[in-house]
Amino acid sequence: MSRAYLCVTIDTECDKGPAWKTRRPLAFEGIHEGVARRLQPLFGEYRAKPTYLLSPEVLRDARSVDLFRSLASSVALGTHLHGELAEPFAFEPDVTSVFQRDYTPELERAKLTSLTDLFIRAFDHQPQAFRAGRFGIGPSTIGILEDLGYSVESSVTPSVDWTSSGAPGLHFDGAPTQPYHPDRREPARPGDAHVLEVPVTIRARLCNAIPLVGRRLERRWLRPTRGTGRDLVRLAEDEIAEARRHAPGRPVVLTAMFHNVEVVPGTSPYAANEAEAHAILGRLGELLAFARREDIATIGLGDVPEIFAR
Ligand SMILES: [Zn+2]
Repeated sequence: MSRAYLCVTIDTECDKGPAWKTRRPLAFEGIHEGVARRLQPLFGEYRAKPTYLLSPEVLRDARSVDLFRSLASSVALGTHLHGELAEPFAFEPDVTSVFQRDYTPELERAKLTSLTDLFIRAFDHQPQAFRAGRFGIGPSTIGILEDLGYSVESSVTPSVDWTSSGAPGLHFDGAPTQPYHPDRREPARPGDAHVLEVPVTIRARLCNAIPLVGRRLERRWLRPTRGTGRDLVRLAEDEIAEARRHAPGRPVVLTAMFHNVEVVPGTSPYAANEAEAHAILGRLGELLAFARREDIATIGLGDVPEIFAR
């Protein structure tokens, strides 16, 4: 039977609040409390290697960079673009709303380049993995990431349509749920890019097939933000079973995602109080316990190409 792997990917940003409003001045409790005191002890308990995808403002914050440098041997690090916060023309928005595919290709390239340079300056090595803020990749993104030396892209959200979130036409209908080499212009389709697409583990429900209304009902995400730990385990089991049926012998990759700010009260819309923050950590713990029981190694996003190269 093929091996299964888990990537736990964490979009890592400055503190937000209700309705995702950015805290001013910029604050990083979601890193100093969330990553250092809440997430890392949990990952340590399960010997899991998480992947923190770092937004530009985190890479500019010296204290945050110090923390991630100190964790470098036990975590994987990559980049995460919220275009408003990246040079050129960086500013601190009330709410990050940009989809990078809406920039001109030149501006998208300039912002991805400045983000990558911030990462290299902070950690003295090339980032391997990338995820777009709001999953907003477009027809230029993959080629730019290849030019910048990335090996993994992780913005594809299979079967999700972001049109009603302000991105008309940004949808990932029919995208594979397992890693694939994408088409450069249409990243939701397989193609011949060198970058490996590692999609977020998302599966449609039967009711999503109902015309019109079904499209709007939420998919099942491998995301501890809501639901129950049991839901996450069932989704993981369903994905593994289908992937093995579809491609026997091929390694299976599960990709969970959430934000660092979800595990500290009041720094995201998802956890207003300690009970809600601890519930998210508890569900993450249930997923990690499942992985340990099933002998599923938790690996970094940047490690994924290697398991397919063996
Ligand atoms: Zn983000």
